[in-house]
Amino acid sequence: MTRRIVPKLSKEEYEKNFSDVKPPLSKDAALLEANRCLYCYDAPCIEACPTHIDIPSFIKKIATNNLKGSARVIMESNIMGGTCARVCPVEILCEGACVYNNIKEAKPIDIGRLQRYATDYIFENNIQLFKREKDNGKKVAVIGAGPAGLSCAHKLSMLGYQVTVYEKKDKAGGLNLYGLAAYKITNEFVEKEIEYITSIGGIEIKYNQEVGKNVDIQDLLNSYDAVFIGIGLGKTPKLNIPGEELEGVYDAIQFIENLRINPLEKVSIGEVVAVIGAGNTAIDAATQAKRLGAKKVYIIYRRTQNEMPANIYEYNLALKDECEFLWLTNPTKIIGDTFVEAIECIRMELGEPDSSGRRMPIPIKNSEFLLKVDTVIKALGQISYTNFLTKIQGLELDKGRIKVNPETMQTSIPKLFAGGDCINGGKETVNAVQDGKLAALGIHKMIFS
Ligand code: SF4
Repeated sequence: MTRRIVPKLSKEEYEKNFSDVKPPLSKDAALLEANRCLYCYDAPCIEACPTHIDIPSFIKKIATNNLKGSARVIMESNIMGGTCARVCPVEILCEGACVYNNIKEAKPIDIGRLQRYATDYIFENNIQLFKREKDNGKKVAVIGAGPAGLSCAHKLSMLGYQVTVYEKKDKAGGLNLYGLAAYKITNEFVEKEIEYITSIGGIEIKYNQEVGKNVDIQDLLNSYDAVFIGIGLGKTPKLNIPGEELEGVYDAIQFIENLRINPLEKVSIGEVVAVIGAGNTAIDAATQAKRLGAKKVYIIYRRTQNEMPANIYEYNLALKDECEFLWLTNPTKIIGDTFVEAIECIRMELGEPDSSGRRMPIPIKNSEFLLKVDTVIKALGQISYTNFLTKIQGLELDKGRIKVNPETMQTSIPKLFAGGDCINGGKETVNAVQDGKLAALGIHKMIFS
């Protein structure tokens, strides 16, 4: 028996299937949309943005065609405003809070695409909005070149610090480059944004440097004035069921990374795919499998839609791509000889709430059933680098996450600051950017006050 793999897409098919889900606005459309904004006093959209961008102010500047000023308002609060315009779940953040939601038959302002319109102008015209202050003689190590680390490095550099970023991969970007669906953001844009951030000066990125392996955290704490840790999360946990080692079983993060790195060469997908889990990464994996040509994609989740970790925008994307949700279902066995041929699942029911407050899924006896599938993608979230973190003397953790002061991002070790997924267990890019910014200000306060 041979494995049923869908034919690889041609370059043209790939570009069509993976084109932007939120394409840029034309000038006319942007002006029209900007003029619809009510420029609210105490605007709820500002409060709903984790980086608190002054949204009415940047929209007003678009309305008067001051795109440079508009981008400055955005990027002073969020240096990755271009990325966030593309990947933020705006429907549950700024746009979800827009007053237009209270007006019958009116649509909220298209804040995300207006933000993209203004920030794209800066990148397309190579306009540097920020200047580095005179060198203040202090140096900071940043661990991880993802959104938290790069945001922290940029703010520190603006304040006159020399920043060295230690990145374990051979490219910067973190999950922006390796962990988000290819139809949300392109590698070209991520690279352009990183180039923009580092071009301010005072930031050196050292690649292939993994802290805990070839760089020692204690050495960094001894030789720098402060250290920021933004290492994100580690691998997807194992399913711990028979058949997990079969050919055609993928880790969702690895699957998405392969797609982002070399989509036409590295990724092969079966005709029928089962994605295990129902978080945002699961949806990214499922929708991409569908766009690669899978005929059927199941999203298998042991609880119900009410407990699903994915947000409503992601859920709707999956429905639009005709993925099928199997609620109250749990895999028990992956079946095959050398490659995946089927998955055995069991029906579940919900019992009493567990320690997370969600009702506990309980298997229903003798309810096992078989699904014929060719690929299984495990998307059970990511686990923190507990092995590494517990070895850092004096560092307090809470359920594997680094504990910080939420205002300064300072950890229980005074010179060590942290932000992003390693403190929050996995949130949005915009949360990581805000953490990095707050940490830079926290470091500055610690050193100079
Ligand atoms: Fe404009 Fe909506 Fe924000 Fe009001 S809430 S300022 S209308 S985007």
